[in-house]
Amino acid sequence: MKKERLLEHYSRFSTREFEASMTYHGDDLGAVWTEEETRFRVWAPTAEQVVVNLYRTGEQSDLLQKIIMKKASGGTWTATVRGNLNGIYYTYLVTVEQETKEAVDPYAKAVGVNGKRGMIIDLSSTNPPGFTSETKPEFINDTDAILYELHIRDFSIDPSSGMVHRGKYLAFTETGTKNSYGDATGIDYLKQLGITHVHLLPAFDYGTVDEARLQTPQFNWGYDPVNYNVPEGSYSTDPYRGEVRIREFKQMVQALHSQGIRVVMDVVYNHTLESGNSNFNCIVPGYYYRLTPEGDFSNASGCGNETASERVMMRKFIIDSLLYWNREYHIDGFRFDLMGIHDIRTMKEVRKALDEAEAGILLYGEGWTGGLSPLPDHERAMKSNIRSMGGGIAAFNDNIRDGIKGSVFHQEEPGYISGKPGMEDTIKYGVVAATQHDWVDYSKVLGADYPWALEPTQAVNYASAHDNHTLWDKIALSTPYDSREDRVRMNLLSAAIILTSQGIPFWQAGEEFLRSKPLNEEKTWFDGNSYASPDRVNSLKWELVTENREVVDYYRGLIEFRKKYSVLRMTKTAELEAHLHFLKWLDTNLIAFILTHPKEGEVCVIYNANKSWQPVHIPEGEWKVYAKGKRAGNQVLDTNTGGVVNIEPISAMIMVR
Ligand code: CA
Repeated sequence: MKKERLLEHYSRFSTREFEASMTYHGDDLGAVWTEEETRFRVWAPTAEQVVVNLYRTGEQSDLLQKIIMKKASGGTWTATVRGNLNGIYYTYLVTVEQETKEAVDPYAKAVGVNGKRGMIIDLSSTNPPGFTSETKPEFINDTDAILYELHIRDFSIDPSSGMVHRGKYLAFTETGTKNSYGDATGIDYLKQLGITHVHLLPAFDYGTVDEARLQTPQFNWGYDPVNYNVPEGSYSTDPYRGEVRIREFKQMVQALHSQGIRVVMDVVYNHTLESGNSNFNCIVPGYYYRLTPEGDFSNASGCGNETASERVMMRKFIIDSLLYWNREYHIDGFRFDLMGIHDIRTMKEVRKALDEAEAGILLYGEGWTGGLSPLPDHERAMKSNIRSMGGGIAAFNDNIRDGIKGSVFHQEEPGYISGKPGMEDTIKYGVVAATQHDWVDYSKVLGADYPWALEPTQAVNYASAHDNHTLWDKIALSTPYDSREDRVRMNLLSAAIILTSQGIPFWQAGEEFLRSKPLNEEKTWFDGNSYASPDRVNSLKWELVTENREVVDYYRGLIEFRKKYSVLRMTKTAELEAHLHFLKWLDTNLIAFILTHPKEGEVCVIYNANKSWQPVHIPEGEWKVYAKGKRAGNQVLDTNTGGVVNIEPISAMIMVR
């Protein structure tokens, strides 16, 4: 469609008249299957004609039938086909202003290879035994979560995983797997580690891995959505048969749940791989995206386009999609990619819809965009607006991320753990989960001079994610003259900060075994953007869980401790104000605080980023030490009577009385 015409459509879509007459509220968009018939309904309010094509397969020239659809309510078109169509593939032919395009149904629940066609499916046939009656691991408060960010292929593709279904959903169903040292890998390892949620990098159908040539190793993070309501095919054992990826995805979720681990999906509703030729745009040109005044796709995602969540039917699509993943696949939480592209109202409606569906569904996202957006600042679901979004939506705390290890944009810049002075208030800002606390000097906080979180449930604290260098690589790049021993201590101190801070702790898989993404043999050059890098860079190297066992044990110990002490997981800012007190008059690079709880006692946490032993004066009493030096856990390591305690170089100390 010509830009002038597209802009005319675009401006009409925003009018009340259009919304009033052309909004569809029903829950039957897509292909609704029964044994007797399948009913199709697609929203195409500007179309002159819509046809359903039925095919035998997901890719070949094997058209079975064309059915002309009828105009129906709210801008939709419908058709009903008699007979059992389970396993039949379909597309829509949509004609707008005499231009006809073939598109996959955005509401398709199954697709063929590379997502080129939708597939009609009897979803009940895809449930593994016991799936519909499974019970989820208990989960109460958002701050009880310990999030582990994982790419499905990375998890198992390396031979060191000892797994059979390498690179596949089914790898998560494999128990008893071991590395060459005989230590647990895979799901057994995750269970032992004690994390509460696996956060999967994009697992819906994306475009950049060719599912038709899986014998050739290919890798992508998957931030290029094609079919939002269907699992990615390359992680299945057969991407040609639409039902296989669905069943295997469910087996993965079921396996994780059975080991006590919940599942978060990374969702990328903010843009699509294609712009003008995307399924959305072929069906309703100009509706689902924001355009510039010139009629070009605006690009706040940095990936070529940005969706328009403020439009009623885009908002409905997002909510319907999330509810579907929750209901059909039992997904327990969603991480919004570039959440700042979405409007606040949409995110609040998402929260409400999920709350009505099930308690305990996590929602968090990146509180920024990847470029300029025409959506006004005050309407964006940005970190800076998160206070107005309620306690049930969280944002990544990039202030503590950069405070701990140094800016992600300057690889040689150190942070608190690696000796950068003046970072105390930024770390304290993380400790209070970016909320209002009298004992934080906000004027000294890196990148924010105010508490952006209303409640501690709104801050996801982290030092590493898939973006940028791994924590271990960042430490190496920013401390060229330090010993390995000191670098290990820096990593441990980072973990102690993340896991003793209020808010929701998060890290990239493998941070706890010093995951690295080296680009050369000498390991002096590291991949800071491995979105399409080969497996040898990205995969989890499972030998590291043995070779860096002391680091894994430290993380595991901190996780145990965090789970035991609810005072580390407070849910209200008012509780923090009452029960979290920082010690004053400390020397440089020292932070200490005491948490008080009527039953759990007092928990004293001290961070020392100095390379020397440091004395710290604490209240007198019978203190039991649970973390010091390179050890942490629920075992008492030592006792003292308070007064002056000495803290090892680059380490944390945790005591309880
Ligand atoms: Ca795909």
